[in-house]
Amino acid sequence: MFHRLKNDFRLSIITLLGISGLVGITPFAVLRFMQGNLLAGVVDSAILGGIASSMAYAWLTGDTRRTGLAMAIISSYGAVVVGSIVGDPGLFWLYPCLVTTFFLVGPRIAVGINLSAILAMMVVGLAFSSQEQMWSFSTTAVVVSACAYVFAHRNHSQRRRLEQLATIDPLTGVKNRRSMDEELDVAAANAERSGLPYALVLLDIDHFKKINDEYGHGVGDDVLTELVALLESNTRRSDQLFRYGGEEFVLLLPGVDGVNLRAVMNNLQQVLRKYLKHPGGPVTASFGVALLGHGESVDSWLARADNALYTAKETGRDRIVYAEEVGQPMPEPVPRAAG
Ligand code: GH3
Ligand code: MG
Ligand code: MG
Repeated sequence: MFHRLKNDFRLSIITLLGISGLVGITPFAVLRFMQGNLLAGVVDSAILGGIASSMAYAWLTGDTRRTGLAMAIISSYGAVVVGSIVGDPGLFWLYPCLVTTFFLVGPRIAVGINLSAILAMMVVGLAFSSQEQMWSFSTTAVVVSACAYVFAHRNHSQRRRLEQLATIDPLTGVKNRRSMDEELDVAAANAERSGLPYALVLLDIDHFKKINDEYGHGVGDDVLTELVALLESNTRRSDQLFRYGGEEFVLLLPGVDGVNLRAVMNNLQQVLRKYLKHPGGPVTASFGVALLGHGESVDSWLARADNALYTAKETGRDRIVYAEEVGQPMPEPVPRAAG
């Protein structure tokens, strides 16, 4: 349970806000029944029920996107209904809702929910004792929403930038080794489940140090970016390219094995031989290729591709070496049900 709260930001926010809502609203629900205000008591109880069932749904299904939307709508429009029944004490409930919507849904949807709730409160009009109060309320509520929007938007873009810095190689623009580790785990899990073959290609530029030494680091960088452009334009959208480090790259090829894999690899080798160049002539690369074995670990898969690359280097470079297959062959993919 604590593990889920720690790793799922939105679930932890839903739980925190849900518990705060339950603790904060329950005494008022009880008070309203005691005061004989049945309608307000029933509305409060309905809001409590909505919050509790949303939380339960999020914990059971993990679907925090829908739950966040449901909770934002229940709390904001609930505050409008409460304000219309109990008058201006209900107005105060809308302020925390205006801020928390930004934790529950994306910034744009939150703005939409907030503005429509403020507008609904004004159109119904029952919560206000004067025109002046209505305009003071709506102006301050819009200012609160605008500040929360700016904060949420900034937070959102900074998180995206951080994610990019952590996963993308700045020189070539392809994913880095950190993303590769995650994607290889995903591929291995998918292979186990679906039986889809996965090939891993470890590619290392031949005599790259010489290019740097003779023509400078800038020319070396150009060769790296040119290599990435050639690989990306000669592979499928579902294939993934990662910078493994220095002048070594990893290509993850789903759904190819046997003759198809050999055809793909021969084509890539020909493309590099023909088009990858530096001022002194063509640039070649060596390839180590390994197919994921049934039940094989990612470490062992990578190690086999690495050994194959080592053999390619040892036996003269500019060549493709296939690692021996391990374990039993992958089971046949489960056929999809018709319809
Ligand atoms: P081999 O054929 O055995 O692979 O020889 P190599 O010269 O390609 O391999 P080596 O590992 O000796 O040299 C790799 C070089 O790659 C050394 C390092 O300076 C260079 N390098 C690593 N990262 C970058 C980079 O981002 N830009 C440039 N220009 N060079 C880099
Ligand atoms: Mg090299
Ligand atoms: Mg190397």
